[in-house]
Amino acid sequence: MTSKPHCSSSLSPFLSMNLVELARNIREQKVTSEEIVRKVFQNIDENEYNLHAYLAFWKDEAVEKARACDERIRLFREKNGTSEADNTALPPLLGVPVAIKDNLLYAGKPATCGSKMLENYIPPFAATCVEKLEEAGAVIIGKTNMDEFGMGVSTEHSYFGATSHPMDPKRVPGGSSGGSAAAVAANEALAALGTDTGGSVRQPAAFCGLYGLRPTYGSVSRHGLVAFASSMDQAGPITRSSIDAAVLYNIVTGADEKDQTSVLSPKIDLEVMENYRMEGKRIGIPKQLLAGEGKITISEEVANGLSVFRDFLRENGAVVEEVDMPVLSYAVPVYYILSSAEASSNLSRYDGIRYGFRAEGIEDLRELYTKTRSEGFGLEVKRRILLGNYVLSSEHFEDIYRKAEKARNLIRKAFDDAFERYDLLLSPTSPVTAPEKGEISDDPLTAYTSDLCTVPASLSGIPAISIPVKSCPALRPCAAGGNDEVSGNSPVLPIGIQLMGPRFGEQEILGAARFFEKHVKGGAEDA
Ligand code: GLN
Repeated sequence: MTSKPHCSSSLSPFLSMNLVELARNIREQKVTSEEIVRKVFQNIDENEYNLHAYLAFWKDEAVEKARACDERIRLFREKNGTSEADNTALPPLLGVPVAIKDNLLYAGKPATCGSKMLENYIPPFAATCVEKLEEAGAVIIGKTNMDEFGMGVSTEHSYFGATSHPMDPKRVPGGSSGGSAAAVAANEALAALGTDTGGSVRQPAAFCGLYGLRPTYGSVSRHGLVAFASSMDQAGPITRSSIDAAVLYNIVTGADEKDQTSVLSPKIDLEVMENYRMEGKRIGIPKQLLAGEGKITISEEVANGLSVFRDFLRENGAVVEEVDMPVLSYAVPVYYILSSAEASSNLSRYDGIRYGFRAEGIEDLRELYTKTRSEGFGLEVKRRILLGNYVLSSEHFEDIYRKAEKARNLIRKAFDDAFERYDLLLSPTSPVTAPEKGEISDDPLTAYTSDLCTVPASLSGIPAISIPVKSCPALRPCAAGGNDEVSGNSPVLPIGIQLMGPRFGEQEILGAARFFEKHVKGGAEDA
């Protein structure tokens, strides 16, 4: 039995634990799931007005579920004795509050995808990855804000209003999974799922000082993930530590008969991850991911963060060198051609007939389609639909769409070749740190160019992780949502460093992420 309830502040040690430790403490009744869930909702009460990380949350139901978890543990311990309490018979995340992005279906809860089109849509079933989270005992507490249908870099393209950066309300948290990242960074959830088509898990994780894992394409089922670009969509964790990312990945991964592109991939061995050695690793930095265009060139802080990270790897015995991958210069246009083509096809289902929004005052079928789609979709979504239809049109199919497909194959091949020589590839996650609202998203080409570093992995189906670092005043993992001020000036914004690995190379990239997290933490504390 828990001896006595904790006051809000004495919960802090539990809230700073990784998910494995926290779940163990809940199972051992050192803290209750109810206390943790209530604390998370207290944070929501305090911050959400400014942050707007969520589109929906359900406090009473979550507290009810948390109580049921606590009761299940009590009964388990009564029956099996306390020494048995930590065994695997209880689900690994029992009682831990987790948030999910709004494009992941959860039965009976709204799934708006940040769009007026789906404002009133309530799905009757859950996404496979969400079901798996529930089976693992997680308490799902809400649906997080996102750019409409996942299209954007800032969460400003949500029909329901933008999400703010947790460290600075003038700035964006990244996108399109900005709600998930802001919620975790502000302790409004202990971890979250996002989705990543061209970088939407990694880039918001980078902006908010978190870990963001885009898994190998197919290793997480897409069943119940509202489609944007089906050949690239993947759900992935946004977390405060590399261990949390591994734990969530292990829960959501697996083949699923409801998604024919899903495959059984190896789970992460946490012990192997903990014992990762950097010595002798070969790491390449693709030159083309250090370039940029127009307003988007790699910023000084990001370049600094990358070079300190590179030096850290070298000091620990890795060989790090620049690698020339010329075809990556085409990754942004190739991504936007292919993803828009797929989006225009996927979004054709929103026609005002089957489900979702239907415009009023309709005279005929044609008007039903045009009015519904004109009123239901936002500007960015319409732009993608137009672009997608253009590249798929009979005049342009061969010279644009087909060419982009060929270039995609070359990009995949360039990665396959690179991974013959390197264990990992390294780049910034984003060329810039969190921009101010409107700074990037107001100009589509600038926004698209800012995806330079994340889209290559998406096109190739390889796994990639964003690791939080700060280059100032000393390299160290960035405290999630930390309110770090340097001499009273503006906060030091987190920088994300991206590690990419070969397909099914999650063990390798998570091992390297953990190595950095562990070693630099010690160093920073000493500094
Ligand atoms: N920024 C990219 C886009 O707008 C990525 C989006 C995503 O990964 N969902 O398409």
